[in-house]
Amino acid sequence: MRNLWNRIDAAAFKGELGQRVYSSRLIGSEPSLVLHGGGNTSVKILEKNIFGDDEAVLYIKGSGWDLASMEPAGFSPCRMEHLLRLSRLGSMSDLRMAAELRGSMTNPSAPAPSVEAILHAILPAAYVDHTHADALISISNTPGGADRIREVYGERVIVIPYMMPGFRLARLCAGLIPAKLPAGTIGVVLQSHGLISFGDTAESSYLRMIELATLAEEYLARKKAWSIDWPAAPAPRGPSAVELAGFRRELSAAMGAPAIVTAHGDPVSLGFAGRADVAVISQQGPATPDHVIRTKRVPMVGRDLAAYCAAYEAYFRECAAGASPAPRMLDPAPRVVIDPAWGVLSAGRTAGEAAITADLYRHTIDVIMRATALGGWRALSARDLFEVEYWDLEQAKLRRPGPPAPFAGEVALVTGAASGIGRACAEALLSRGAAVVGLDLNAQVRGLRAGPDYLGIVCDLTREAQVASAIEEAVRAFGGLDMLVLNAGIFGQGRPVAELDTETWRRVMGTNLDATFFMMRSCHPILKLAPNGGRVVVIGSKNVPAPGPGAAAYSASKAAVNQLARVAALEWGRDRIRINTIHPNMVFDTGLWTPEVLESRATQYGLTVEAYRSNNVLKVEVTSRDVAALAAEMCGPAFAKTTGAQVPVDGGNERVI
Ligand code: ZN
Repeated sequence: MRNLWNRIDAAAFKGELGQRVYSSRLIGSEPSLVLHGGGNTSVKILEKNIFGDDEAVLYIKGSGWDLASMEPAGFSPCRMEHLLRLSRLGSMSDLRMAAELRGSMTNPSAPAPSVEAILHAILPAAYVDHTHADALISISNTPGGADRIREVYGERVIVIPYMMPGFRLARLCAGLIPAKLPAGTIGVVLQSHGLISFGDTAESSYLRMIELATLAEEYLARKKAWSIDWPAAPAPRGPSAVELAGFRRELSAAMGAPAIVTAHGDPVSLGFAGRADVAVISQQGPATPDHVIRTKRVPMVGRDLAAYCAAYEAYFRECAAGASPAPRMLDPAPRVVIDPAWGVLSAGRTAGEAAITADLYRHTIDVIMRATALGGWRALSARDLFEVEYWDLEQAKLRRPGPPAPFAGEVALVTGAASGIGRACAEALLSRGAAVVGLDLNAQVRGLRAGPDYLGIVCDLTREAQVASAIEEAVRAFGGLDMLVLNAGIFGQGRPVAELDTETWRRVMGTNLDATFFMMRSCHPILKLAPNGGRVVVIGSKNVPAPGPGAAAYSASKAAVNQLARVAALEWGRDRIRINTIHPNMVFDTGLWTPEVLESRATQYGLTVEAYRSNNVLKVEVTSRDVAALAAEMCGPAFAKTTGAQVPVDGGNERVI
């Protein structure tokens, strides 16, 4: 493992907390040490309190913070005296511990301290680093793992048997770690969990962490268990878009809300899913307590969701019989699905959750494969797994998240998303929690937004094959389609009918009408499988109810689309798909309205450009965002019982009213 410490960079971080921030970021930047908020770091600082007394304060990573992007504000300042007294208590529930940790803070508005705060407090060193190093887990989770750990580290570490993170782990460590550490001790191994290093400076603690992780990696390499060769398996066919959308619908029902499902077709996922022993090795539990929570107890192998959920429920009830008070059951839906023909699927309540689950499982595959090469994968017992799940359930009660975003877990596809109304629609749907697929001829559609909840695809909508493959790609990314915003359109050259050339007519008809038809026909079988019913919004035009001279191709194409939508509304009601149309007018912040088009339209009406801009009943300017807000609303509950409707967004038009 690479040592990333840089003297010049480090010098820019002033003070004890500054040094803590710098080395926390170094640890956070190494995904085989910590992933997605995993691991934690701390520093003990002597401070003057308000009475002028010296007080030792433990600054420990707060929950909700990621080491990779750590800031001073991400640390929770806890009074050491309080933590050390807590460590000497005989017993305490983890709920009570969480409350006590909060109560020990010198700043009540800091984030909640990590559940491992007491463990950090009892270690007799200024700086403490804790990671879930993949290499360590591979060695630890094998038969005879404890002996192997001894072989790797000798007397350099204190080994703590597995115990769930929380008060009991802190108690166990308090009993096994002496107040004065033996010379040569540089860290602690938490079996089936991770590594702890410590030191008097941020640098020494960091270097020891790198040393401990490197020793584990070198051991695996010596035992020929480091690099994994994936046999060139016959490429699985992968799920079809309709199969995947059908599976997502079932999974959403088990989860109790729409779910995002992502299909992973990379060589590692395919190689792992294709192994003959995958049903055995994948069923022995996730790598660390972190992974238990994100990926659920064990992944589902195959596609029998009903059997998986029934087995999960039976397991949970059996384990919960001994717990008091009886816990409310978690939803039984798996978060990782492995299928020899489909590869690996990850699921979550949002695209972000599904992406984190996928990342964690990718690391779990590495860990399992190396342990298998070393002598066999053996993870936590069923009882241990249950404890972690149950504990997370309790923690969830404390977190009190706000109401979920209205479109959380749902997927929207927007055509013509690179600019104007399409872009505004994509943004409106993203801000309401949907995962969005943006399609456009313009390559800028790819870079509209970074993050797991957006996918931009360059696509010529007039080509049926491109439309089909874009939909395929969208479904592989998010599992299905719930909403479709048909926005892409062109205006064409404004000419009287008598002078209109055939090429312009065909081009406008091709983009505005044919492409809309291709999209509707191709998306129908996927929309039919939307967990909460499919929704289609067509961006029409004021020209449908009130055409103007000089826009024959545009007006005729939009009128035809309007009629197409009305027919679809009649046909698709039985499939729980509703389709409504928006007729915008005078939306000038779009690609359609070039200065030339604006000038030409104004001339057609005998107006100046300025007069033309405010030429509506309300004398208001209509923006893309206004249209997008209505499009999003049409996908929501306010329009749940409306289909086949046409609503203008035009500031009021005398010819329409
Ligand atoms: Zn941990």
